[in-house]
Amino acid sequence: MATLFISDLHLEAKRPEIGEQFLAFLAGPARDADALYILGDLFEAWLGDDDPSPYYAQMKSAIRELADSGVPVFFMHGNRDFMIGNAFTAEAGVTLLSDPHRLELHGRKVLLSHGDALCTDDVEYQQVRVMTRNPEWQAMMMAKSIEERIAFALQAREKSTARHETMDEEIADVNQDAVELTIQEHSVDVLLHGHTHRPAVHSFHVGDRPVHRIVLGDWYEQGSMVEWDENGPRLQELPR
Ligand code: MN
Repeated sequence: MATLFISDLHLEAKRPEIGEQFLAFLAGPARDADALYILGDLFEAWLGDDDPSPYYAQMKSAIRELADSGVPVFFMHGNRDFMIGNAFTAEAGVTLLSDPHRLELHGRKVLLSHGDALCTDDVEYQQVRVMTRNPEWQAMMMAKSIEERIAFALQAREKSTARHETMDEEIADVNQDAVELTIQEHSVDVLLHGHTHRPAVHSFHVGDRPVHRIVLGDWYEQGSMVEWDENGPRLQELPR
């Protein structure tokens, strides 16, 4: 039995192959897991739990079926789906985790994060992040109609895409100082995150302690998962 970690599926109706792979994963390998952790950006966009899209309803009930089968499912917000609220988590049967979240797994101290908070070189993004995580800002958004929110999100996405085209590659990755500080602050052996879409296992030292940073990949071309059992963590590609 293993604990499974995934992130950055970026589910959206216009990329049906991602949803199909996710549904097969939920009905297949995930059923044998000790637990499933979804570390953010499950959805490409989330404009509020009141979004009536049948696609979202289908994904939500598939997650619910896994939870009802006895596999605990945990969810952490990403930078695309941070508006997921209590209605969604209750209906999907998932437990919402704050970012970061610390746990012990087979004797190892592990810190889970989406990863965007570690990208501190992107100062402008970090300012947007603070604004959009503010409950008052979120209440202001939720007071708008779903159509208004969709229009707002489209505009925000265009701005972000234009910005990323002119941005240095390094800037969109995590900052190593932020990584080491976070590991030290939470005194963990492993930091596990997604967001950067750069799947890898990085091994280095913090002080004299050997530590690892495991990065989950996105699901655009194939799936990506960390499977963690008594033998330790394994980062895997899930062929489509
Ligand atoms: Mn992200």
